[in-house]
Amino acid sequence: MNRIDPKLAATLRQPAELIDHGLAPASQLADLERVAARYAIAVTPDIAALIDPADPNDPIARQFIPSVQELVQEAGEHADPIGDDAHSPVAGIVHRYPDRVLFKLVHVCAVYCRFCFRREMVGPGKATALSQAAYRCAIDYIRAHKEIWEVILTGGDPLMLSPRRLAEIMADLATIDHVSVIRIHTRVPTADPARINDEMIAALRVKGATTWVALHANHARELTEKARAACAAIIDAGIPMVSQSVLLRGVNDNAATLEALMRAFVECRIKPYYLHHGDLAPGTAHLRTTLAHGQELMRALRGRVSGLCQPDYVLDIPGGHGKAPVGPNYLSQANSFSQEREEHAETRYRVVDYCGDVHLYPPKP
Ligand code: SF4
Repeated sequence: MNRIDPKLAATLRQPAELIDHGLAPASQLADLERVAARYAIAVTPDIAALIDPADPNDPIARQFIPSVQELVQEAGEHADPIGDDAHSPVAGIVHRYPDRVLFKLVHVCAVYCRFCFRREMVGPGKATALSQAAYRCAIDYIRAHKEIWEVILTGGDPLMLSPRRLAEIMADLATIDHVSVIRIHTRVPTADPARINDEMIAALRVKGATTWVALHANHARELTEKARAACAAIIDAGIPMVSQSVLLRGVNDNAATLEALMRAFVECRIKPYYLHHGDLAPGTAHLRTTLAHGQELMRALRGRVSGLCQPDYVLDIPGGHGKAPVGPNYLSQANSFSQEREEHAETRYRVVDYCGDVHLYPPKP
């Protein structure tokens, strides 16, 4: 495999830099400049080292290298595809479900995913980081709402904060009695594993609340030795991890690739949690699959890998109506009539096994 210089020292942020490193064709410079004017680009050295520039269908490149197809906005695509704004009572907070809030602390990430559902909000020059006054206002909101059991730090990538600042935020949240769980969503352990050092791990642990870390990764190749070591350091510190992945055309939309990804998570002690259907973010149609294909893949996974490796396939309903599980249904009603008294209809069930064979389940087991 013809990968780029493993000694690449800096994150690539400009189309010209991607072209210089063989990650994009020179003929596309003008178009990629137009993409870059709208959506942030960042490819860390760790991610760049995973890309095979000779492979036009490289699944890592498809996630991070911009494409001219991003300039095409399809009907139904929306700058706020999961409706964060409709549930934002104060800056930085999204309160969609009673018992939990999203707390958006930063607007920058180590890498910028070409399918990002917040692509209109993240990156340099987009929304600014929370001011100290807005931060205090968000903390006051959480403190005033006693139904909030879990705070989910997201953004942007919260692990782009300095360990010192992250520790301050964790401490502020942990002093709120009703906040029991702090969950952090991040790509840093794979995109820039060196950031997961002793200081960062110390910042993640806090007295008074339980920390969970949700790792976003979409292909088993992202779980390099360095990434696995970073995750192991987090878990060895007593912090459980779950995964979240996005189903992406040309990246992981086949059963073997999804199987390898889910097995890799479990081998790393990361419980597969969510497989997201691609959100209707602008310029991302070329990376989305159909729901029917997603269900077919979930059916295939059910037979191929153990229950530990099964994520929930979920769709964020546009407009801010929350997540719905959209995996295949294995149970349906098979109405039948009792042989003795036809007027008393009884419900029996049809249940489908992992091979696709249908079985009847009696009404009164
Ligand atoms: S890391 Fe998350 S917030 Fe950042 S660009 Fe990727 S999907 Fe978007």
